[in-house]
Amino acid sequence: MTQLPSNFSEIGRALREHQKFAILSHVRPDGDALGSQLALALSLKQLGKDVRIWNEDGMLEKYSFLPQAELLSKPPSTPEDFDVAVALDTAIQSRLGTPFAAIRSTKTWINIDHHPSNPRYGDLVYVDPTAPATGQILFELLKAGEFPIDRSIAENLFVAISTDTGSFQYSNTTARTFEIASELVGCGVDVGRVSQQLYENYPRRRVELLRELLRTMRFEGNGKVASFSLSLKTAKELGVLPEDNEGLIDHLRAIQGVIVAVFFEELADGKVRVSMRSKDTAVDVCAICQKFNGGGHTLAAGARVRGTLAEVEQRVLEAICDVVDCHS
Ligand code: AMP
Ligand code: MN
Ligand code: MN
Repeated sequence: MTQLPSNFSEIGRALREHQKFAILSHVRPDGDALGSQLALALSLKQLGKDVRIWNEDGMLEKYSFLPQAELLSKPPSTPEDFDVAVALDTAIQSRLGTPFAAIRSTKTWINIDHHPSNPRYGDLVYVDPTAPATGQILFELLKAGEFPIDRSIAENLFVAISTDTGSFQYSNTTARTFEIASELVGCGVDVGRVSQQLYENYPRRRVELLRELLRTMRFEGNGKVASFSLSLKTAKELGVLPEDNEGLIDHLRAIQGVIVAVFFEELADGKVRVSMRSKDTAVDVCAICQKFNGGGHTLAAGARVRGTLAEVEQRVLEAICDVVDCHS
């Protein structure tokens, strides 16, 4: 069910014409996933639509400050029928997780995303790999279709864009991104409050987790590859939540000489979550992760790999060294 990109007006029409919506995003959501879900849902609700906002993980504690965060929930066990189901920021349909099964039927699937590896699933598809965040695409869509953008919607979009651009630092941040940020601030976004909630409000256990991760830090290839890992045992001892490690990989990326940073997290299902970052567009970590059935972007990607922590570390680090010359 792969389609050519549909333009904004077709998607806009589908949003205006229908009544009952499910707004979904990927498992282990980030700020772009949750902010995008709430922004689109709030805009549709202002038009009087009936909207469900579901994520496998529900609302994360870290993002519970988002305007109207309480509207987002885990999916119900009894499936429902919809006119439109929208997948946001979700590279492959299976990453929608349990909410997918809560959609008994829908007339239309809409897929809005910015992952280059997105296979363009769905009936109406808008995938723009040049966009730094799904939130940026949504802003353009809402604006072009003259959909409501009030302060709550603007704050959700701002968080989506701020988190996926590393607070407007990554190379995917364009002049357009700053123009959009400016418009969002014009809609009433409280930049100081939002940034404090995002970047200066971490639970202490997150920093304790960082301390443990740094103890496991290792380097390959003359310091071009840096990695650290988290075992289930350590996660349990520290009482950390899955969301606590979001962004910790940036400590590895920030090291001089490091080209690829990797974070290995042992999961309860016998798999290891691999998170990868690159600082050089010549080293495409999405391509490396695709070898392990993962995906993502050129400079930020991930995969879930079956095996023990030690096995997965070895296989993945070898695959990286095939791309980054670890012997020079
Ligand atoms: P993360 O390292 O979890 O922050 O993910 C980095 C990027 O890779 C995100 O854009 C994700 O959407 C993508 N990604 C992470 N894990 C997977 C996976 N298992 N399959 C496909 N894409 C993934
Ligand atoms: Mn995301
Ligand atoms: Mn995203």
